[in-house]
Amino acid sequence: MNIYIIGGGAAGMMAAIAAKEVNENAEVHIIEKNDKLGKKIFITGKGRGNMTNAQDINEFFKNYVTNPRFLYSALYDFTNLDVIKLLENNGCKTKIERGDRVFPVSDHAYSITDSLKHYMKKLGIQIHYKTEVRKINYKGGKVIGLETNHGKYPADRVIVATGGLAYPSTGSTGDGYIFAKDAGINVTETYPSLVCLTVHEPDVYRLKGLTLKNISINICDDKGKSFYKDFGDMDFIDEGLRGPVIISASAIITKYLNSSDPTLRKELTVHINLKPALNDQQLDERLLRDFHEFRNKELRNAFSNLLPAQLIPVFTSRLESKGVDINKKTTEVDKETRKKVVTLLRDFEFNISGTGSFKEAIVTQGGVSVKDISPKTMESKKISGLYFAGEVLDVDGYTGGFNMQMAFSTGHLAGRSAAEEDIEMS
Ligand SMILES: Cc1cc2nc3c(=O)[nH]c(=O)nc-3n(C[C@H](O)[C@H](O)[C@H](O)COP(=O)(O)OP(=O)(O)OC[C@H]3O[C@@H](n4cnc5c(N)ncnc54)[C@H](O)[C@@H]3O)c2cc1C
Repeated sequence: MNIYIIGGGAAGMMAAIAAKEVNENAEVHIIEKNDKLGKKIFITGKGRGNMTNAQDINEFFKNYVTNPRFLYSALYDFTNLDVIKLLENNGCKTKIERGDRVFPVSDHAYSITDSLKHYMKKLGIQIHYKTEVRKINYKGGKVIGLETNHGKYPADRVIVATGGLAYPSTGSTGDGYIFAKDAGINVTETYPSLVCLTVHEPDVYRLKGLTLKNISINICDDKGKSFYKDFGDMDFIDEGLRGPVIISASAIITKYLNSSDPTLRKELTVHINLKPALNDQQLDERLLRDFHEFRNKELRNAFSNLLPAQLIPVFTSRLESKGVDINKKTTEVDKETRKKVVTLLRDFEFNISGTGSFKEAIVTQGGVSVKDISPKTMESKKISGLYFAGEVLDVDGYTGGFNMQMAFSTGHLAGRSAAEEDIEMS
């Protein structure tokens, strides 16, 4: 019995391991178009390899944005603790950091891949590098084989673990969606997720490199309806916004910015509260104190206690555009003007023009419709012997190790199911 796995990323490698663990007589092959396995794993956690999260597995579901319920069987079948145990047993010692993120003690993502490779070698899994699957063949509603750039392979089971569209330089170029569509399986629209937001305001360029800490954001449409609220840190980059709160926000709003359906698209604005810890009265008192300290200065030069230096010229020019004379002496600033300052501190806004592209996105939102896949086995409901696992599925999570865990868990379930069916049949 042959099991072929397309893609040697987190999902594909774990599928191969689970298949061989369950059925040592199965011939398990990974077909990988790159010359190495797990190219994407190398860049997770900024190269330090964030393989999962240490939270209780029951807490995982709220960290998935799309179709969390689909993951029940997969996540309980092969948990974060199982991932850690498997990696540790094969030489990758782990540690827990901020936000319960789990990393290799070595601080190198390659420790994860080395550990998986070590175990796969022990299990006798065959790996075909630089081999690209072009087509999956079916007969009578069943998988019968694969076609690659190196010829055809007969196959009894095929697991599609090709990843999505994010970071195509790692090999994830959306091939799995073509395989799914060929098999009559629905694929939902895909969007870049966990990605930067681009904005219309040209003054954003003056803020490049600045990090704002402990701010809150509220993303609203043009009617004032709120779509995302968060508290934390954000960064300014070339033509937009990044950093933890923005990356998380992108997972919720990407569809409103990128949908091909004009009725779903929305004009969104990010409202940044620069001082969320203070109420209006406390802010006003703070301004009075600062203006007293800078009593011989103009208003434009009176914010150095309150705001980062790089933000002050942009903040004051926005104040000016709201009719405030920023050259006025602080001693002459009246209550009405202070109110305008407070309002701008509360609502420093940017109109969102879009998201970054798939080239720079951490994950893909959308993909192989979970309605066409059994959550208990990862097998397609339309073609027997065809399984899907990992980012190719219409499931995505927030940062923190949840996407890697999803790939490992769905991969493990697909591999185990594919091999278990073999045992039942023989
Ligand atoms: C910059 C970055 C940072 C990230 N950081 C984190 C993090 O810290 N924590 C976290 O949980 N997640 C993180 N992720 C997301 C996580 O890495 C992915 O969700 C996960 O690795 C997906 O695994 P996968 O096996 O489903 O797909 P992939 O890793 O994309 O693997 C798919 C494999 O299939 C191969 N392939 C594709 N088509 C074919 C074909 N036709 N024939 C043969 N081979 C094919 C590809 O070459 C590739 O090796 C990050 C992603 C990026 C881009």
